[in-house]
Amino acid sequence: MTPAGPGPVISVRGVSKVFEGEPEPVIALEEIDLTVQAGEFVSLIGPSGCGKSTLLRVIADLVEPTRGEILVNGKPARQARLDRDYGMVFQAPVLMDWRTIARNVELPLEIMGVPRPERARRAAELLHLVELDGFSQRHPWQLSGGMQQRVAIARALASNPLLLLMDEPFGALDEMTRERLNLELIQIWSRLGATVLFVTHSIPEAVFLSTRVAVMSARPGRLSRIIEIDLPQPRAVATRETARYFELVTQVRAVLRGDGADTPAIASTNRAGW
Ligand code: ADP
Ligand code: MG
Repeated sequence: MTPAGPGPVISVRGVSKVFEGEPEPVIALEEIDLTVQAGEFVSLIGPSGCGKSTLLRVIADLVEPTRGEILVNGKPARQARLDRDYGMVFQAPVLMDWRTIARNVELPLEIMGVPRPERARRAAELLHLVELDGFSQRHPWQLSGGMQQRVAIARALASNPLLLLMDEPFGALDEMTRERLNLELIQIWSRLGATVLFVTHSIPEAVFLSTRVAVMSARPGRLSRIIEIDLPQPRAVATRETARYFELVTQVRAVLRGDGADTPAIASTNRAGW
């Protein structure tokens, strides 16, 4: 387990990212400040190309920031990656076709040198968590897209990370599967007491899942607003039918359109120090 330090789980300070390119450089991120505390579920939402993936990738140390500082569990992003402080889930489930489902889930543990019986035990436990008991000896191509994405989530959880970085993990799924996985994810999150940073372009998904929604704007990529989602926990199917849920969906949509800037009902930021 990753020890829970006293400070924030993620601290992004003055981060900018410029991709050099033709005909001109792309400012993917400009002066991003974001703090995520332990146990939060924060969604990043914004139009395509506004820098959501780039922000997640600089936090995961897959992309180097041009400026600024990133701390994960109080340490530099690189150290946190080396320490396997988080699990990452990408938009497409990146599974290895020649490995069984169980051995895909075990992969991070194999890399960490965890002994075989312990790996097998852990994989079985995780496959149970994502409701894939009985599929451990199948191969990825024998599973539906939704099932493959659940395998990717199980694998991301394999090393017991208390932090999950998820980049549109349900983007390619049909609405029904997506809503079911939303419920599963929120249950995993509360059961493990984990912290999640989640990229999506779905407003209903962001509002349903999150404790806060960070709205980004494009060109250059900036954080325009953070909205507190004060819906009661635990979230359930009925949450999507409450008046407050619809109100928050409308607020997030207004901020995304850029016309909600002065709406007093919207939490005016800064509670969690960004
Ligand atoms: P989002 O995930 O919000 O759709 P991205 O973070 O993928 O946006 O991209 C933000 C901007 O940075 C886009 O204009 C994109 O074309 C550019 N970009 C992203 N990655 C690279 C890269 N490796 N090289 C050059 N430009 C990139
Ligand atoms: Mg993206």
